[in-house]
Amino acid sequence: AKEAGRGNVREYDHNFDTSLQDRFRTEREIRLAIDNNEFFLEYQPIMCTRSHRLTGYEALIRWEHPQRGRIPPDRFIGIAEECGLIAEIGEWVVRRACADAALWKNGLSVSVNVSPLQFATSDLPAVITAAIRDARLDPKRLSIEITEITLLQHADQNKEILRNLRKLGVGIVMDDFGTGYSSLSYLRDFQFDKVKIARSFIRDMLQQPHSAAIVDAILLLGKGLEVDIVAEGIETSEQLHYLEERSCTFVQGYFIGRPDREIAEFPAGGLLSEV
Ligand code: C2E
Ligand code: CA
Ligand code: CA
Repeated sequence: AKEAGRGNVREYDHNFDTSLQDRFRTEREIRLAIDNNEFFLEYQPIMCTRSHRLTGYEALIRWEHPQRGRIPPDRFIGIAEECGLIAEIGEWVVRRACADAALWKNGLSVSVNVSPLQFATSDLPAVITAAIRDARLDPKRLSIEITEITLLQHADQNKEILRNLRKLGVGIVMDDFGTGYSSLSYLRDFQFDKVKIARSFIRDMLQQPHSAAIVDAILLLGKGLEVDIVAEGIETSEQLHYLEERSCTFVQGYFIGRPDREIAEFPAGGLLSEV
């Protein structure tokens, strides 16, 4: 329900703050958090299996609440979407990520998650153009990760926005492919730079033949459509080997490197020399 709830204003996360009062509290606290600098970004490395080198990092938002401690994004992004604060948070994320990436000595790329509601409630190309310009970042070093919902709702309008972002040089990544509202026509109608296989399939693929079949099919689809596939949520060397044998181009997960405030220059544990 959590995954399906993101970007869908009619649903909310029943695992968290179920009473209305708590939701109002969280809403109020999100407003304060922006002003009090309680948000920060962590960066998780993404590795290319062909070169065994890192190619970039995914930016993941973190909220350090002064009393409640760490609040994971799954617990506040949905609320921020519903109460109209996602545009403000989203702009902060894009600006922070561009400013950080501009300082990385290795020149690698940064990938930012963008909520479907940011397409509706902000002028995304203008926001991203300003962020890139102010950070003096090469637009080719920025990608945005969108979910299938972005192409389900306001499809024509959002595709136009994506084409404008593409013209700027920004990469477009389809996130969590295979969950939610999967439609193969999304992959036919829009040329993504990368498609990410949803973590749940990677998690189960070595135990469940059905998950493995879906992973295999998405990898084949990637070959046919000439789009790079990213597998996320890799936690073991067995998962990595399975994906490498099927020439999955990019991999991400705790086994490669955990999200961290400081960027990792190499995957954890000397993986580069091991594989
Ligand atoms: P996502 O975009 O699918 O991000 C990947 C999530 O998987 C992250 O969770 C990451 O920490 C986690 N992860 C990475 N490798 C592994 C692994 O090997 N095993 C396991 N179990 N988990 C792994 P996180 O940071 O809690 O973020 C959850 C979701 O919140 C994200 O899912 C994304 O949808 C959303 N999110 C995060 N940051 C932002 C943001 O800046 N803006 C927006 N709109 N959404 C964000
Ligand atoms: Ca993502
Ligand atoms: Ca994902």
